[in-house]
Amino acid sequence: MIPYDFEYYRPENLAEAVEIFQTLEAEGKNPLYYGGGTEIISMARMSNIFTGAVIDVKEVPELKVMEIQGDHLVIGAAVTLTQIHEANLFPLLAQAGARVADHTIQNKITLGGNICGTIIYREAVLPLLMTECEAVTISPAARQTIALEKIFAGRLKLNRGELLAQVRIPQEYLSCPYFHAKRTKKDKIDYPLLTVCAINKDDQIRAAFSGLGDYPFRSLEMESELNRTDLGVEQRVNNAIEKIPLVIPDNLLGSAGYRKFILKNLLTSIIKELEDPPYANPQ
Ligand SMILES: Cc1cc2nc3c(=O)[nH]c(=O)nc-3n(C[C@H](O)[C@H](O)[C@H](O)COP(=O)(O)OP(=O)(O)OC[C@H]3O[C@@H](n4cnc5c(N)ncnc54)[C@H](O)[C@@H]3O)c2cc1C
Repeated sequence: MIPYDFEYYRPENLAEAVEIFQTLEAEGKNPLYYGGGTEIISMARMSNIFTGAVIDVKEVPELKVMEIQGDHLVIGAAVTLTQIHEANLFPLLAQAGARVADHTIQNKITLGGNICGTIIYREAVLPLLMTECEAVTISPAARQTIALEKIFAGRLKLNRGELLAQVRIPQEYLSCPYFHAKRTKKDKIDYPLLTVCAINKDDQIRAAFSGLGDYPFRSLEMESELNRTDLGVEQRVNNAIEKIPLVIPDNLLGSAGYRKFILKNLLTSIIKELEDPPYANPQ
């Protein structure tokens, strides 16, 4: 049970959504945009968040889009992980989403909610971090289309009241050879000890990680070491691990050493599976 009352709004267009937010904010109601609601509801039940009003954005047409527009795949922020998986227009994203929570919850979780949520894993963002993806954001003042990497630093940097409307993925990335692996402590359905997504783009490996620290990330320094075909695979993997830009968690879910061990195996698999010709330097 949620131990307090709150108002519910369901705008029909973007302008209405941001306008309602401003009005409710001015009334001191601490409004929240509402996608699938899985995080909002579970945190509200535990009294970890308090809101006087939610603005459900699932009926806003731009947020329900999932189609090729020109040379981009455009996915609205209110599209669910199940819809992304079933459409399979971007197989890596489809697979990453299909390993978040379970089927029932995937029917509710939206792409925007997963990217904008406060829970640290945000696994659906990993494929986007490697693909020169753009984010379309809406505020009362402006609509902007901006490179995701410019506004994603561990979490999406939105101004208060700003709404993520869509992501735009260049088509050339949709069919890149890819790798996805999620490792959990015990059960298949759990938060990740480590999730890795990787692609091969123009003979270069790109990789992004969740579970290796307090936020999901892509590291150009790690990629640079992974792509050192003048070195043996083990050396490349060890060098990449040296470049991890975060402190690896050491907690009940798993020790830092264990996470590194898993990472080493997964990075080796990435090189073996994605490098063409396979395994360029088998020392
Ligand atoms: C049992 C369970 C297991 C889970 N396991 C995992 C896991 O292993 N890995 C993982 O990555 N996730 C996992 N999740 C999902 C994650 O924790 C969040 O619950 C989920 O991603 C939130 O998505 P939502 O659409 O329900 O967002 P909501 O709950 O609707 O919103 C979450 C936050 O994002 C904001 N928001 C939503 N949409 C927008 C938008 N368009 N623009 C701006 N802000 C917005 C909301 O205001 C809110 O602050 C799990 C969830 C559950 C319930």
